[in-house]
Amino acid sequence: MQYSKKCANIQSSVTLAIDAKAKAMRAAGADVVGFGAGEPDFATPHYIVEAAIDALKDGKTKYTAAAGMPLLREAVADFTNKNLGTAYRGENVVISNGAKQALFNALQALCNPGDEVLLFSPYWVSYPELIKMADAVPVFVPTKAEERFAPDLDAFERAISGKTKAVILNDPCNPTGAVFPESALRKIADLAEKHDFAIIADEIYDALVYDGAVHFSVTQINDAIRERTVLINGMSKAYAMTGWRMGYSLSCPALAKRMASLQSHATGNPNTIAQVATLAALTHENPEFPSMLAEFDRRRRYMVETVNTIPGLSAFLPSGAFYVMVSIQGLIGKRCHGRTIDSSLTFAELLLDETKTAVVPGAPFGAEGYIRLSYATDIANIQKGLARIRQFAEGVLSSC
Ligand SMILES: *Cc1c(COP(=O)(O)O)cnc(C)c1O
Repeated sequence: MQYSKKCANIQSSVTLAIDAKAKAMRAAGADVVGFGAGEPDFATPHYIVEAAIDALKDGKTKYTAAAGMPLLREAVADFTNKNLGTAYRGENVVISNGAKQALFNALQALCNPGDEVLLFSPYWVSYPELIKMADAVPVFVPTKAEERFAPDLDAFERAISGKTKAVILNDPCNPTGAVFPESALRKIADLAEKHDFAIIADEIYDALVYDGAVHFSVTQINDAIRERTVLINGMSKAYAMTGWRMGYSLSCPALAKRMASLQSHATGNPNTIAQVATLAALTHENPEFPSMLAEFDRRRRYMVETVNTIPGLSAFLPSGAFYVMVSIQGLIGKRCHGRTIDSSLTFAELLLDETKTAVVPGAPFGAEGYIRLSYATDIANIQKGLARIRQFAEGVLSSC
């Protein structure tokens, strides 16, 4: 039997593969420290859990409209308007099974075969695959570590072609933690107008910014830019609701309608109980958020400070999300137990084998020479894991 070419070309997530190996080692009794987590280690806030329990007791267990409950669509519009000063309404909103499905919907609804979608690298691993699933072509625009992974606008302009259909902006960025400067976002928006392409703005980490940084959204620029933008957000990160699978898009109503039709046949409505809980989440203050943010901030500082005392490694303090990109360039080319550390993948494999510490290699994110450390794990774990990484790095440098 021949399977489809489309799926043969989709790569399974490398981040999940390392995670799976670390979990298997842990299940076999090994004391593994994991820096791979792409989800908060905090529990979903109590008031949201209570709302879900009430939904079940009240029998809110039936289908809703495919695009989500009208009340929730309005609540998402209100919540976004309150944060951004925009003027969205329920008709702009589609509720989806996580931000992932919202991204999938957007790319399917925008792209024709051969269209190009621009994206800054390092990038989140799922984007190139989501673009390919829409029969479109990812076009990578590099950013530089020396510039704290801020968008390179000259490179961006050069990458625009007659086939450019959209750009994906992930701000704050996974994996770099970069928060894009407002001036860069304005320039990108100008170019989108000039060359008539769409902006897909994945702002899932918008609440997780530090040092008083204020996140700016391209949708705040003006109505015309908002019209050509699909704003993506969701509950996974700021509300610690990864397993609930709740995300959403805000776009012009015509595109929202098409995405809703697609979704109606692919999955139908997202989970009704999770929708009711999300309605409660967005219409009340989250009393647990400030302490979560403060704890992430504390870990972020500790991690970067400590990494910079480890020989061969370096990192800068990122402004958002919950990841630190660590340069391992000081260890590339060195040997360990007969193997040369020739790539971030080899580094991650050796580190896991030798020290039972799981990190995510940069290569699948377009960041060779780097590893990604998540600080969505408690300080004790971070301490323990970094001590192991120090021992490994020192061993490699004195040629272990
Ligand atoms: C975690 C994450 C998402 C959210 O995915 P969900 O499907 O909502 O869980 C989206 N984009 C990026 C860049 C992420 O890191």
